[in-house]
Amino acid sequence: GEGLPRPEQTRVIVVANQKGGVGKTTTTVNLAASLALHGSRVLVIDLDPQGNASTALGIDHHAEVPSIYDVLVESKPLAEVVQPVPDVEGLFCAPATIDLAGAEIELVSLVARESRLQRAIQAYEQPLDYILIDCPPSLGLLTVNALVAGQEVLIPIQCEYYALEGLGQLLRNVDLVRGHLNPALHVSTILLTMYDGRTRLASQVAEEVRSHFGDEVLRTSIPRSVRISEAPSYGQTVLTYDPGSSGALSYFEAAREIALKGVGVSYDATRAHIGA
Ligand code: ADP
Ligand code: MG
Repeated sequence: GEGLPRPEQTRVIVVANQKGGVGKTTTTVNLAASLALHGSRVLVIDLDPQGNASTALGIDHHAEVPSIYDVLVESKPLAEVVQPVPDVEGLFCAPATIDLAGAEIELVSLVARESRLQRAIQAYEQPLDYILIDCPPSLGLLTVNALVAGQEVLIPIQCEYYALEGLGQLLRNVDLVRGHLNPALHVSTILLTMYDGRTRLASQVAEEVRSHFGDEVLRTSIPRSVRISEAPSYGQTVLTYDPGSSGALSYFEAAREIALKGVGVSYDATRAHIGA
């Protein structure tokens, strides 16, 4: 396929929203696959004890597999837990196992508890263009570790009632982490997910989000698509499961926007592969 521009330095993008079911995991794995399929080297860090991102990428994450828990709590080098994603060259995953559920508590008593992921990433020597971190649906120490480790926050927003509820708390946490621990952190990207343009509600929510966040909102939104929701049960992203589907094309367009933004090129929707 068509290549995408690669960043000069590794972009660490935190996919966060403390609401569950808004499309964090779906967005993480499908953007990561889009970027990798178009020439970038990408690592997905699964920071949700549910391990949904690991599952969706076809990565073994049963209880004995070396995982991000070992990195955060046992100080195991990240390189010792990273696995290549089958079928997608350049895509890698640091899986989450169920013991990560205990990490939220175990981290409390550890030294530098907020910056353990940041340190692990800094010590990782493999060249990468992107690291995408899939956060759990909470604002606890796991999400704080992601916010300390990243430069960018990507917030998926589902176009439904109460879409913006609770976002204030996430934004305040981003401000707190920026003020105290990570001056580079900023909300770089808002992505509208499960968008159904035929409903008044979805377009009203989209309008509200755009007036609130302006240029950070990607022009591309992700439609509701059965193919997107089916892909994880085959251990695949929609990019390999059904590359021609509207879901695959929209995630590729979103990835293209993100890649272009990163090298300072403005996105031209008229060149989009799908209707903008
Ligand atoms: P989160 O990680 O925020 O909890 P998920 O990415 O797991 O959210 O998505 C929640 C559910 O919605 C999953 O079952 C997923 O397959 C489904 N889903 C996500 N995005 C779409 C979409 N664009 N179209 C249809 N189903 C989707
Ligand atoms: Mg998830």
